[in-house]
Amino acid sequence: MSTFKAPKGTYDLIPPVSATFLAVREAIAAPLKNSGYGYIETPGFENVELFARGVGESTDIVTKEMYTLTTKGGDQLALRPEGTASVLRAALEANLHKAGNLPVKLWYSGSYYRYERPQKGRYRHFSQVGAEAIGTEDPALDAELIILADQAYRSLGLSQFRILLNSLGDKECRPVYRAALQDFLGGLDLDEDTRRRSEINPLRVLDDKRPEVQKQLVGAPMLRDYLCDACKTYHEQVRELLNAAGVSYEDDEKLVRGLDYYTRTTFEFVHDGLGSQSAVGGGGRYDGLSEMIGGPSLPSVGWALGVDRTVLALEAEGIELELPATTSVFAVPLGEEARRLLFGTVTELRKSGVAADFAYGGKGVKAAMKAANRSGARFTIVAGERDLAEGVVQLKDMESGEQEAVALDKVTDEIRRRLG
Ligand code: ATP
Ligand code: MG
Repeated sequence: MSTFKAPKGTYDLIPPVSATFLAVREAIAAPLKNSGYGYIETPGFENVELFARGVGESTDIVTKEMYTLTTKGGDQLALRPEGTASVLRAALEANLHKAGNLPVKLWYSGSYYRYERPQKGRYRHFSQVGAEAIGTEDPALDAELIILADQAYRSLGLSQFRILLNSLGDKECRPVYRAALQDFLGGLDLDEDTRRRSEINPLRVLDDKRPEVQKQLVGAPMLRDYLCDACKTYHEQVRELLNAAGVSYEDDEKLVRGLDYYTRTTFEFVHDGLGSQSAVGGGGRYDGLSEMIGGPSLPSVGWALGVDRTVLALEAEGIELELPATTSVFAVPLGEEARRLLFGTVTELRKSGVAADFAYGGKGVKAAMKAANRSGARFTIVAGERDLAEGVVQLKDMESGEQEAVALDKVTDEIRRRLG
């Protein structure tokens, strides 16, 4: 063992669990690829100012959780704590919104960094798959994203999750609500931090998990009672489209994303088997974000799903994904001549698309067969001097245990035929 360990709040993804991670990423991406979303990849770090503006100066992410650094050249950078601001920045920079084909639909997958107190389901380095639909205001787009996330979770076999849904209003009605809420909060007995938060970002206070705060929030004005007609109609349409798609959700009037640019539809996916880190994903409409980072008005909607917590959700539901065996054929050579020939066969199999592996290191037959077993291969090919003298190899079906001599120059075809 080396003297070095993975940094606090991080963990390594190693086989076999890493295969589940890959499968989860793919399962989340599949419905997006199938629905017109194009893949985008942005740098792991950005100018710190992008997040300060694009995530919000008053958020925990920016005030407490961001990894910032100054480069030797004096640039102020931050490891990305989330994906939306970067994706929108990249779309604006490439003028994707001017190509005349709105919405611009993009999906991404990658690592994100937050300096948090590590605990189960909460890490300093974690993984998200996300989607953004940029430049169009249409309730069908909001519904589409929620439906696709639902589909992704279901395709993994998950069922113990719930979708929480709310509307945050728009620039017409939200300021009126904000003022009413601030007025209400002003009359409460709050600590210094919370008082400051209620000045900058009062909606966030509703999200405070502490019981002593929640107790005082009973009777707080609710956004629902302040929504303008346009927002009400919009939200009703999102709900109807979800109903028609058979996607169930819960109306949660307290669900907030307390940033000024978040508008209208907001939602969260929670899993009931995860304890306090229950959010497996979240998202919503952010009609004001583009302007906040210097772009034109581009009403948009998106979500990000946490890969780490989705894997924990699978564990909580006792789901083991059916992953295809990574190796179909394992070759066991007995002797130098066999080694040369079978190595060639393995290369040929791989070229023809069959996943194949080889007993390296001159192992004896016992150790080599153990390795073949461990690999999960459906077939082994074993060859010794006597086989080679006859121009054959022994092809063994590891499921049935049956073994048969097959001509060396026919073995690739025979294996491909048997694998179908
Ligand atoms: P939480 O309330 O749990 O802190 P969040 O609101 O900060 O979550 P988002 O910014 O909406 O989370 O990120 C989307 C998803 O990314 C979350 O639902 C979660 O699954 C995942 N996620 C966020 N932060 C972490 C983290 N520190 N470790 C692991 N996963 C995370
Ligand atoms: Mg958080």
